[in-house]
Amino acid sequence: MKVLKGGRLIDGTGAAPVSDATVVIRGERIEAVTTKPAGEWPHDAEIIDVSGMTILPGLIDCHDHMAMHGYDLARRWGIDEPQSTRTLRTAKVLHQILEMGYTAVRDAAGLDAGFKRAIDEGLIPGPRLVVSLCIISPIGGIGDRVSPSGHECMVPADPALPRGVANGVDEVRRVVRTMVRAGADVIKCATTGGASSRAGHGPKDPAFDPDEMRALVDEAHALGRKVMCHALGGPGLRLALEAGVDSIEHGCYLDEDPELIPMMAERSTFFVPTLTVYEYHSESKAAHVRERSRALREHHLASIQRALAAGVKVVAGTDAGGHGHPPNAAELQHLVAAGLAPLQAIRAATGWAAECVGLEREIGTLEKAKRADLVVVAGDPLADMGILQSAERIRLVVKDGVTQLRR
Ligand SMILES: [Zn+2]
Repeated sequence: MKVLKGGRLIDGTGAAPVSDATVVIRGERIEAVTTKPAGEWPHDAEIIDVSGMTILPGLIDCHDHMAMHGYDLARRWGIDEPQSTRTLRTAKVLHQILEMGYTAVRDAAGLDAGFKRAIDEGLIPGPRLVVSLCIISPIGGIGDRVSPSGHECMVPADPALPRGVANGVDEVRRVVRTMVRAGADVIKCATTGGASSRAGHGPKDPAFDPDEMRALVDEAHALGRKVMCHALGGPGLRLALEAGVDSIEHGCYLDEDPELIPMMAERSTFFVPTLTVYEYHSESKAAHVRERSRALREHHLASIQRALAAGVKVVAGTDAGGHGHPPNAAELQHLVAAGLAPLQAIRAATGWAAECVGLEREIGTLEKAKRADLVVVAGDPLADMGILQSAERIRLVVKDGVTQLRR
């Protein structure tokens, strides 16, 4: 048994913080969350005094690319270092993310299911994973490995990652099934270009037709998988929502079509704006990337504010990987700057995030019977969200009741 006592508690449900709280962990689960602990603890209980600190649910990043380590083509195509070096580099990232209090991460493509198994078997430390393996898109979409001039990548694809290019209804269904067979927990697709995609396939350029997208969503749902869809703007964004995807990733131009945000609110579609990546892209060396990110900025902020006002759940995702692996909590600061109240930003990376990734029954809030995933930070993140990005401030990380870090 572990007993954390004397801390300020933010439970991830959106409730106001509670001071002098006690969290009791037995085995992998939370046994009690209380301000009135009963009498004595068993003699072998580990009592941890966390006064002056804040206890939060383990943080969740809903959109990361933990096996990606840069945007340039050689890196993207995995030809600048041996596969084993790359694998170990990824393992290091997984460890670092866990030590910053992120106990669950949804990978938005690039990470194969073997990493999840390695973590579950205790071979390497890392967060609880929800993996998508690859982006499914048609020829010319963001999951198609072509150079800016349209040259196809000659390097054989990683055999641990199925090919994500699919054209036509039958092939879309086949590729969804192939992803699930290879271990995908969630289906990732793309119905538009992005800020960093090749010139000619930008944020409002569509990919897939309605029949293909309906088939993709139907097949994924039939196999019990949610669909996370990269969609920035234009007709591809509407297409994704009409097809019934479960989360819109990026969603930069949601504000341009007045029907989209109400549609998301009605269907409980999650919004994962990934502000961190656009901060990075707005200083990109590539002119087309820089221009796209600067042009979308005010729309992105307006989209977030309108989505919140309409009751859409806005959740945290860094889209890290291409831009390296900064602290995942950078997104929380960006979300606050975009108009989320600090408590909402915490919820975006805890309770709401768990719902978005489909793990709300197990994690995301600190409540009796949930899995004991939590982080203790020195100070008050509601007063200064920046402390969640400081390694020295992260004092205790627990996953499944097991201490992962204590300083
Ligand atoms: Zn991404």
